[in-house]
Amino acid sequence: MCFKCLGVVQGDDMERKNVWKDYDKKEIKELEKLCKEYRKFLDNGKTERECVKYIVELAKEAGYQDFDEVKASGKKLKTGDKVYAVNMKKAIALFQIGEEPLVDGMNILGAHIDSPRMDVKQNPLYEDTDFAYLDTHYYGGIKKYQWVTLPLAIHGVVAKKNGEVIDIVIGEDEKDPIFCVTDLLIHLAGEQMEKKANKVVEGEQLDILIGSRPLAKEEKEPVKKMILSILKKKYDMEEEDFLSAELEIVPAGKARNAGLDESMIMGYGQDDRVCAYTSAVAMFDMKNVRRTACCLLVDKEEIGSVGATGMQSKFFENTVAELLDNMGDYNELKLKKTLANSFMLSSDVSAAYDPSFGSAFEKKNAAYFGRGVVFNKFTGSRGKSGSNDANAEYIGKLRKIMDDNNVAFQTAELGKVDIGGGGTIAYILSLYGMNVIDSGVAVLNMHAPWEITSKADVYEAYKSYKAFLKDA
Ligand SMILES: [Zn+2]
Repeated sequence: MCFKCLGVVQGDDMERKNVWKDYDKKEIKELEKLCKEYRKFLDNGKTERECVKYIVELAKEAGYQDFDEVKASGKKLKTGDKVYAVNMKKAIALFQIGEEPLVDGMNILGAHIDSPRMDVKQNPLYEDTDFAYLDTHYYGGIKKYQWVTLPLAIHGVVAKKNGEVIDIVIGEDEKDPIFCVTDLLIHLAGEQMEKKANKVVEGEQLDILIGSRPLAKEEKEPVKKMILSILKKKYDMEEEDFLSAELEIVPAGKARNAGLDESMIMGYGQDDRVCAYTSAVAMFDMKNVRRTACCLLVDKEEIGSVGATGMQSKFFENTVAELLDNMGDYNELKLKKTLANSFMLSSDVSAAYDPSFGSAFEKKNAAYFGRGVVFNKFTGSRGKSGSNDANAEYIGKLRKIMDDNNVAFQTAELGKVDIGGGGTIAYILSLYGMNVIDSGVAVLNMHAPWEITSKADVYEAYKSYKAFLKDA
């Protein structure tokens, strides 16, 4: 018996089927409605700040109150109440109070709302040979050569010395100008093309071309002066205001349906907004919950969850302490118990099997488009270093919940052993002693300007998050 045949027999039992085949009209309708709204979220949430703003609006529509206002009013939270807490405009936690005591634990969905991009430096504006540029520093893990010759947009804020904060979005509206990082023409790129891929375009070359028209009567840096005059006119902005600005450079343009069959979505920032959005909507669609439900959307995951708005900050723990205190049930031990007794899905994306790069994957343990939400028992790299490795008992419990709720799911590893790796926020929450596992949507082109997901997986992720909040 040849080894190959043996393989085939094994594959059949464990192989997950493509869920599109089973959908009825009603499900397709639900899927398309969810995906249309999800694309709108991608278009309006291109930075962590924009995501928080958008989610707060949806939360208010779903009956959520600002926890700060609730605290200020002295009102005591009770079963069924819904609150949200925002962290420095860049992260948000949503809670729906359950029937069971909070100290018995919560069902938590945690995703991140930051995505790789280029950030404008503090002193960015310069002129070179009649061109004006904004100097940038990239954020997160990117293939730099992917970010050249693309239509780009500027999203962010400028915080003025007087405390005023100006929102800036340039490049999304058809009437707006767009921006670009240029690349060398092929005719003169012999030397460049010989370079290793990570040197073809280097970090300091990711500067944004922002102008080429000189301001009349200006001798010194007339193109730069033109840009400054436009910034002054449009945003009452001085050059020094760049010092206290956060401007993110992202691909310009709306997320779109992809494929002639329109079975996919192509858009920027799907890692991890596809899981953030489906987690939040699952939360908003929950009627009554037995265990308190929580949806946590954090910043800075792409750079190691650091800083005051990253998962390593005490924001989440402090907010849970405030919840217990509000309900007259706070002490350190109860806080520790609440966190340890919680169950969590770290809603983050997985690497979709790409036949064009099949050798990077081990096919029995890869994530496939159209086969449902992906559970990664562990991430990390090499010998599982740096990962949260979920307990077998917990996965057994989740398998039952998914099957009971007719949710399609699959399990996967992040590529072939020893070929690479990655991480999520899971290991940080696991430090509280809670059960955590990574579960999310398979993505093609991860961290590229335009990522691709399957609509079926977006839908199954949403269903899985709802089932988890209801039954975990
Ligand atoms: Zn991610």
